[in-house]
Amino acid sequence: MDYQEIIERVGEDVRAANCGGQVATYIPELGRVPADKFGIQLMTVEGDSFAYGDCDEPFSIQSISKVFLLTQALNAKGRTLWQRLRVEPSGDPFNSLVQLEYEQGIPRNPFINAGAIVVCDVLLALFDDPRKDFRDWMRRVTANPRLDYNERIAESERAHGYHNRAIANLMKAFGNIEHEVEAVLDFYFFACSIKLTCAELARAFLLYANHGRLLGSEESILSVRRTKRINALMQTCGLYDEAGEYAFRVGLPGKSGVGGGVAAVFPGKFSVAVWSPPLNPKGNSTAGILALERLTDLTGCSIF
Ligand code: GLU
Repeated sequence: MDYQEIIERVGEDVRAANCGGQVATYIPELGRVPADKFGIQLMTVEGDSFAYGDCDEPFSIQSISKVFLLTQALNAKGRTLWQRLRVEPSGDPFNSLVQLEYEQGIPRNPFINAGAIVVCDVLLALFDDPRKDFRDWMRRVTANPRLDYNERIAESERAHGYHNRAIANLMKAFGNIEHEVEAVLDFYFFACSIKLTCAELARAFLLYANHGRLLGSEESILSVRRTKRINALMQTCGLYDEAGEYAFRVGLPGKSGVGGGVAAVFPGKFSVAVWSPPLNPKGNSTAGILALERLTDLTGCSIF
């Protein structure tokens, strides 16, 4: 299959489609990112890489970090992790408080904000230096020893994080947050503001496409069984209350972030990362989803 030709066609189709959408402004620093950025990078499990557009420009991965946080927590805690959160789609927006109250502080899944905040609380108990440990792990899976976070975005999110504070406090009241709320949120905002290029994101996601193995290594950093579970969660919960439509249009396990990134995998074959900042009302990149839809249409590659 000529992935380069396909990726270029996807890029041109998406640019011509003028997908619309709004760059996220509820984190003011994110609102400063130019709306016309677009990049798509595909990487095969053999390590061949294909790019179109702004693939070497770092952007804030936001909620895509929830996949990496979950990977570490699941590796450390195994199935006992599921005593603190569940694995059901929420059908509600990513930052919803509604279910949390009647489900007594147990988040529906690790990819809504509430779930990722619990995962951060779990990691705080496990890491000596959570920011450093997480950053080092990210450096390893991206093969970028200089990878870092965007301090201005983390600060902007902290200064405007009333909603996430409400979520964390409600869970604390139900006894599902062990550490101080501010310490947990500080780590959560740090993880969300990690910046990656499409190239780095595709490389990191290759581990979910390749049964938990890092590129160029026989070493597994995630078991086959856990990789399957994380991919299942991405498929059912990765795009919040748009997970059904995303499955219908694309059919690849994936995760979005309000920075405009979407990363997805075709298990056994490839990973793909797209970045375009304008979002639809559900907080997902309009052009990102269209690009993945065109990709699966043109390649015939989908898990369904
Ligand atoms: N840091 C964002 C928040 O907590 C993540 C949301 C997202 O990317 O969907 O609101």
